[in-house]
Amino acid sequence: MPKAFNFSLAVLKWFDQHGRKDLPWQHNITPYRVWVSEIMLQQTQVATVIPYFERFMAQLPTVQDLAQASEDEVLHLWTGLGYYSRARNLHKSAQIVCNELRGEFPSDVASLCELPGIGRSTAGAISAIAFGQVAAILDGNVKRVLARCYAIAGWPGKGDVLKALWHQAEALKPTKRIADYTQAMMDLGATLCTRSKPQCERCPLQQHCLAYAQQNQADYPGKKPKKALPVKATCMLILENEQGELLLEKRPNSGIWGGLWIFPQLETPQHIDQHLADEKLITLDKQQQWPSYRHTFSHYHLDITPVHIKVRAHSQQVAERQQLWYNRAQPANVGLAAPIKKLLAQLN
Ligand code: SF4
Repeated sequence: MPKAFNFSLAVLKWFDQHGRKDLPWQHNITPYRVWVSEIMLQQTQVATVIPYFERFMAQLPTVQDLAQASEDEVLHLWTGLGYYSRARNLHKSAQIVCNELRGEFPSDVASLCELPGIGRSTAGAISAIAFGQVAAILDGNVKRVLARCYAIAGWPGKGDVLKALWHQAEALKPTKRIADYTQAMMDLGATLCTRSKPQCERCPLQQHCLAYAQQNQADYPGKKPKKALPVKATCMLILENEQGELLLEKRPNSGIWGGLWIFPQLETPQHIDQHLADEKLITLDKQQQWPSYRHTFSHYHLDITPVHIKVRAHSQQVAERQQLWYNRAQPANVGLAAPIKKLLAQLN
């Protein structure tokens, strides 16, 4: 594993040859311009940010202009960039800087972190790039580079993983050329050590990178653990009439399967007989319960127990009730929910 000095040297050498040096916020560097760019770059790619940054600077070139602007004007300039709390916090911070700090941005990480919307990494970037102070950053790009290079396993949202990443970021930062190094680390993550298909063959860290050595780059950083989803259960009635048609019902437009057609659902198979009586359906054969299977939505699992029943019914009866007898040979032009397609395939 490289010593801290060698790591930063390799990164800086790469930056001198390949780093980005023409981004709008890299010219005419002021704390205000660096700050606005860093906030815009949170969760947003450079190419998207550039026109927004230029428009913002043309309209509100100084922190005083931003502090005096109305919130509507600031939000208007932000429209389309998303995460609007960033714009509101930017506006609030500008007012604090103007009203409480005589228009002077603090230069150290701790004081910057007290401004709304500025976390430790953004504070580090402003401190390093605008003031040349030796501060570390750990944005998404840098997390990825460090997690891979040092094989720091686990999801960075977890306290101990984050701590290990910060420890590495702090240990590696150089005492000289901190602004270039900061930009270089962001560039490295954004252009070479990308989420998928990192370009390791062009990376200055390749010889020291543990993930490259193990060829398991995709394992870093660790994914967010999936939350245990609640489990609900339903019984789906596959009611087949004497013509081989199947009874479907239309779902309301809102909610799951909105506007799609599904088999009638009951909470449990125990209610089947009552349901058939209520619907004036006569059972012709033995009910066949199929094995249950799980359908997963983003917010819960649904365990589906299908029950196939041959019945006799009056077709007029269903017309008024958003129901139809579905003819598999000449299927109606209706949307079917995914589990219904699956059960139809099984039935066929
Ligand atoms: S060698 Fe590959 S995985 Fe390792 S830091 Fe470089 S680009 Fe990322």
